[in-house]
Amino acid sequence: MKAYDLRDLDRLVSLTCQKNFETLQQAFASVVTELMGDKMFRLYLNKELDEGVEPDFVLIAESSQNLNKQSRQSDQRQLAHFVDNDHDGENEQNHNENILLPVLHGHHVYGSLIIEHGIDFYAEMHSNVILSAITIFSNQMSLLQNSSQDALTGLFNRYMLDNAMEHILSVSQARREDDNQDNRWCLAMLDIDHFKAVNDTYGHLIGDEVLLKLAQLMKKCFRHEDMLFRFGGEEFSILLKGVDLEQATNILERFRTTISDFRFPQVGQVTVSLGLTFMTPGKFPSALLGNADKALYYSKEHGRNQLHCFERLHELNLLEEISTDNNDLEFF
Ligand code: GH3
Ligand code: MG
Ligand code: MG
Repeated sequence: MKAYDLRDLDRLVSLTCQKNFETLQQAFASVVTELMGDKMFRLYLNKELDEGVEPDFVLIAESSQNLNKQSRQSDQRQLAHFVDNDHDGENEQNHNENILLPVLHGHHVYGSLIIEHGIDFYAEMHSNVILSAITIFSNQMSLLQNSSQDALTGLFNRYMLDNAMEHILSVSQARREDDNQDNRWCLAMLDIDHFKAVNDTYGHLIGDEVLLKLAQLMKKCFRHEDMLFRFGGEEFSILLKGVDLEQATNILERFRTTISDFRFPQVGQVTVSLGLTFMTPGKFPSALLGNADKALYYSKEHGRNQLHCFERLHELNLLEEISTDNNDLEFF
């Protein structure tokens, strides 16, 4: 067994100070790349965090030698085999003698480090450090998921919304010059209409079921790259990636009508009001939330079950009628 190198310790520590999934995955990819040195490897992670959803393995790091299409297809087959066999955490050596080290997330195969055949992993490498890096990454993923999820709906929580908005704004600030459509984000706030009446009529348990069902419909309606949050109570937030006003309106209107057409068990029809704004670099998250809230309030005031855009209302001077009393943030 090789002796520990202090730089290895620093690498492992770098995994423990990441605050969001994206930076944690990036740190993991660089740690693995450094630890693998000149050895042939590929590192895959499943983009789909939800259990029960078809896994979607993406390559997040590989050795500098190029990988041909055939190897990628064979990797996907091996990964599918891994998942189908309800992997028990033991490291696997397949018929090509590649080594597949599982990256677990709970009992779920979240990815794999594939090391090319011809390498004696345990004799030639810092295998113990690599295995520790994988375990630390898995533990960090679980911690992050537990602290980032809303317990009832499984959506991201308010803490993650603040985190994601700060991250998006700092990245878009840095890329200001090449401002292209793909980097634009839209923030939408959503509030269930007359939800107090649902609780008063059917009780809190049924109210909770409506919140849960609504969150499930949200997961179905939005694209993978969009981010969904429970802001608090019966309010939700959505971050839509790479959209202009027309696209954001289409996506959110489709969702609004999906909800109003759906028949919730016992309760029947439930509607939602929405407000949207665009995430302009240089703005503070609190100002953007305030703007989305103003547009949402406008929807409430003009009949509910509708969507309005802050920038559009502002352009048309339609926001003046909203008194500052109504801009208060709700606390939970
Ligand atoms: P509006 O159309 O103006 O939004 O009316 P509303 O009744 O939805 O709004 P209001 O703010 O008066 O009431 C919100 C209700 O949401 C009150 C509260 O009891 C309920 N609520 C908040 N969090 C939860 C929760 O976790 N579970 C349940 N069942 N109800 C919740
Ligand atoms: Mg509310
Ligand atoms: Mg409400």
